[in-house]
Amino acid sequence: MSSSSDIIRVTVWGENLHEQRHEAVQKIYPTGMHTVIAEGIRENLGARAEVRTATLDQPEHGLTEEVLAETDVLTWWGHMGHSQVDDAVVKRVYDRVLAGMGLIVLHSGHWSKIFVRLMGTSCTLRWRESGDREVVWNVSPGHPITEGIGEAFVIPEQETYSEYFDIPPPQELIFLSTYSGGEVFRSGITYTRGLGRIFYFSPGHETHPVYYQPEVRRVIANAVAWANRPGRPHYTSTTCIQSPTGWFLPKE
Ligand code: ZN
Repeated sequence: MSSSSDIIRVTVWGENLHEQRHEAVQKIYPTGMHTVIAEGIRENLGARAEVRTATLDQPEHGLTEEVLAETDVLTWWGHMGHSQVDDAVVKRVYDRVLAGMGLIVLHSGHWSKIFVRLMGTSCTLRWRESGDREVVWNVSPGHPITEGIGEAFVIPEQETYSEYFDIPPPQELIFLSTYSGGEVFRSGITYTRGLGRIFYFSPGHETHPVYYQPEVRRVIANAVAWANRPGRPHYTSTTCIQSPTGWFLPKE
């Protein structure tokens, strides 16, 4: 039996700046990357997910208390607008992750305020815009995030991201990418922070049509389903509680 609580409430966040300012990006994503990412999740999860989008230009970047309270999993694509994201919104997202909201961070989101805060490291990497061929290797067969993905898939043209990627040791390494230039990159990694599950996935440079690619869409949708934590326990993550001796014993 299914109920509304079985439905994963997803918010796809996109800064939506390159799409407005760069003609090449506009051609690939005329309605914004966020709408294409949202489509890919709907296409794969169907009635299992209720997907909405939010963008930087909206009041509170579309991530109000109300929206986050109704979000089980948030996806994040940002790049040129990282510094424009309000610290109060970052703190709100951070607290929600600790309380159990799933977070899927995409591509240049590696340098977003929210990801850097959750990781505690610089999250810097090497990069090159040369349209290299990327091979995304599945190094976690059997993991829910790689369901339906074979041993590897190819992205014909992509920005190169390479090591060293300054992140804490991942909880799980899901994908490892190689590039025609010879570099290697930990392109799919998981973490847990508080009760929240986090997946970082690097494919998705704005000048290549990566979010139309079926394997990429499948991975993101799989990650959304994996990061969803229905029935998670209540958890007060931001307060320390002063407690008398024996506070946990039954009251007489
Ligand atoms: Zn990029």
